[in-house]
Amino acid sequence: MIAQVIVDVPVNRTNRPFDYRVPDWLTPIINVGSRVIVPFGPRKLQGYVVGILTQSAEALESTRIKDVEQVLDDTPPLTAELLKMSEWMSKQYLCPWVTAVQAMIPAVLKGKSEKWLTATDALDEETCGNSGLLWELNRKRHLPLAEVEKQFPDEYMLVPGWIHSGLLATEYQVTDRITRKQQSFVKCLLEKEQLAEAIVSLPARAEQMRRVLLLFAEHEGQTFSVQMMRDEHGISRSPLKSLEAKGWIAIEQVEVYRDPYANRRFAEKPKPQFTPLQQEVLAPILQSVQSQSYASYLLHGVTGSGKTEVYLEAIEQTLEKGREAIFLVPEISLTPQMVERFKGRFGADVAVLHSALSSGERFDEWRKIIRKQVKVVVGARSAIFAPFQNVGLIVIDEEHESSYKQEETPRYHAREVAIWRAKENDAVLLMGSATPALETYALATRGRYTLLQMPDRVGNRPMPEVHVVDMREELQAQNRSMFSRKLHEMIEDRLRKGEQMVIFLNRRGFSTFVMCRSCGYTMRCIHCDISLTYHKTNHTARCHYCGYTIAQPAHCPECQSEHIRFFGTGTQKVEAELAKLFPGIRVIRMDVDTTSRKGSHEELLNKFRAGQGDVLLGTQMIAKGLDFPRVTLAGIIAADTSLHLPDFRAAEKTFQLLTQVGGRAGRHELEGDVVIQTYTPEHYSIIHATRHDYPAFYQDEMLQRRRTGYPPYFRLVLITFSHEDVPVVIRGAHTMADYLRPRMAQTTILLGPVASPIARVKDRFRFQVMLKYRDEPHLAELLAQATAAFEEWNKQQKVLMTIDVDPYVLL
Ligand code: ADP
Ligand code: ZN
Ligand code: ZN
Repeated sequence: MIAQVIVDVPVNRTNRPFDYRVPDWLTPIINVGSRVIVPFGPRKLQGYVVGILTQSAEALESTRIKDVEQVLDDTPPLTAELLKMSEWMSKQYLCPWVTAVQAMIPAVLKGKSEKWLTATDALDEETCGNSGLLWELNRKRHLPLAEVEKQFPDEYMLVPGWIHSGLLATEYQVTDRITRKQQSFVKCLLEKEQLAEAIVSLPARAEQMRRVLLLFAEHEGQTFSVQMMRDEHGISRSPLKSLEAKGWIAIEQVEVYRDPYANRRFAEKPKPQFTPLQQEVLAPILQSVQSQSYASYLLHGVTGSGKTEVYLEAIEQTLEKGREAIFLVPEISLTPQMVERFKGRFGADVAVLHSALSSGERFDEWRKIIRKQVKVVVGARSAIFAPFQNVGLIVIDEEHESSYKQEETPRYHAREVAIWRAKENDAVLLMGSATPALETYALATRGRYTLLQMPDRVGNRPMPEVHVVDMREELQAQNRSMFSRKLHEMIEDRLRKGEQMVIFLNRRGFSTFVMCRSCGYTMRCIHCDISLTYHKTNHTARCHYCGYTIAQPAHCPECQSEHIRFFGTGTQKVEAELAKLFPGIRVIRMDVDTTSRKGSHEELLNKFRAGQGDVLLGTQMIAKGLDFPRVTLAGIIAADTSLHLPDFRAAEKTFQLLTQVGGRAGRHELEGDVVIQTYTPEHYSIIHATRHDYPAFYQDEMLQRRRTGYPPYFRLVLITFSHEDVPVVIRGAHTMADYLRPRMAQTTILLGPVASPIARVKDRFRFQVMLKYRDEPHLAELLAQATAAFEEWNKQQKVLMTIDVDPYVLL
């Protein structure tokens, strides 16, 4: 048997499968998708089996190939489908195959974690035979694999066979400080009558022991965790020990999944009577779900139109068909509320994947998927790689969100991967948004996706009234506060009525930088070409790229003036201003500083929901997904800061942001107002956001894109080069550009090489080449050839090159 293996060396030279012989003792557990250890030159490397060939013994003799040394998992972590997908990704996004594979595998399997051999229930005295190892395992139930190899060298090679026959299994011991994986459970060993006798026989002072036995008498046949006995019944460990010594109960170590939601009960939520609009959009979706063939939908519905209920219904019917569903949300809106809605509907069938989980928790959720213990996955971008085997539906909520694009290799977009996966599985793709990405909407209008519309809110609740305030007029009226008179008035009004508000600070591309008012000097990072950000808590200025931090100087380094201070508005400054203007106002501030601790995000939201705050103040973080019945005012400070970014999507992002924030107000019985403060009220993205008019915005923005030659009219590839020496990086960029230029299609435009907008990061100078193209069917191949030529040139230079297909970040 020959295994074709891709090895974990992510460079072009090794980017192909290598052949290895599979020794007989490993044949029971090796499979396509297995993780293996193979010799590679002088080293031993981890790799993945991408193919298995059966060949005659003679053929094997003649080829002098090396042996696979070990197979790392009992069940391959990659399904055949994922493997195929990774191959496609490596071509699509121009990355080594193994890099695409790595993106699909939980971190635990990539890191160094100790592997243990455990006995399954099938292993008992009868099945042990004359194996010393099995007897040892029968007694101890598990042993570190390294120890097995040392102590039982003769039997080590038999292990794969025993795993295959179900006697043994391997497990990863993941050190995880947040939750324990092992829990002690207490089980009663007495029959009913014996139990009654035992209770009577206890001495009067054995209060806790009696309570334990009574618990068992009340709940016949149940087991209780030691932790639960302590927390809920105040029973300490020593009475349990005494009962165990009497032989009345047993305390057992049980492996439990680290479930961050384990201590929560989720209220079951019945599904609503669908509105006519919901019924209308559900009809074709459900029909596609039933017919089990590829279909793709764009659900364009205003905030509060009931999109989530549509998703839930589609998922439910998919599960009824015996198929599985993936639900993608932007990381930021993977709120406890969202999880609650899913757990409430699908209970234990749901796995949740997001970055706030510890790697052990993530691994546990992932194992539930691969073991087929769940049918729905809710998660951020990488949940698109859930190792399901029968995907029937993929939902992408807020499909326009830029967090679906990964900004490191493999630079994939979850939407594109989802399309591939839906096609591969004859599944339904359902994308939803109140503000679809221009690219998506354009494709929908051309019929590539079926466009479904829900222009009204559920229950015909009105869209909130939007008031635009021109801040230039405020200044003319001598109002220097960051709050316009209108917003000030409305905040006062809500405080009087005891209603809640959200105040949103648009900080995209905008930070509190330090500037000298006398000479205009701004403090910049000495390693990167960006301004330092002021941090009030410890009076420092910090670089957001490399972490370089210095104390805020008292005097300007250029002119010695004392008038050097921070500029711009941070959430802390808004909070201080609110406290000054509205004495006694209760502000809950959500920003990176207040939410860095695990769980703090949820705590703050719960506080706000419980009415312990009048104002929820924050940045992008509070813009979406939150649903609070008592919020009747959304205020947006500095709406236009995101308009002035060197990014062709600046207007689109501004429109999305304003629409999202506006959607926070008046979602329930109370009507809502939105106040937008801006210096450019005449800009079309602000005018159309005010009127909740996506189609009008789409028309205007498409004209701009056509005029400037940007997506969706053109597609982009951004190639970035970096090196410590400017001449070297320039030569690298030209080498690539010179290769590409004569070989591209006539209609393709090559811009550059030029210095990147952020020209230096961590002391490396950056240059870029941008390709704009409309029709270039062989672009991926051409880029692969160009990369090979570049690598040839680059052997001595060590210029770092990244290729970003359909880039989102143009800095
Ligand atoms: P969206 O995802 O489009 O913002 P949601 O699905 O969150 O909208 O719905 C907005 C609100 O309306 C939620 O509180 C939801 O529970 C409620 N809702 C949705 N559909 C219905 C319905 N058919 N009947 C009653 N309430 C509904
Ligand atoms: Zn100065
Ligand atoms: Zn820096």
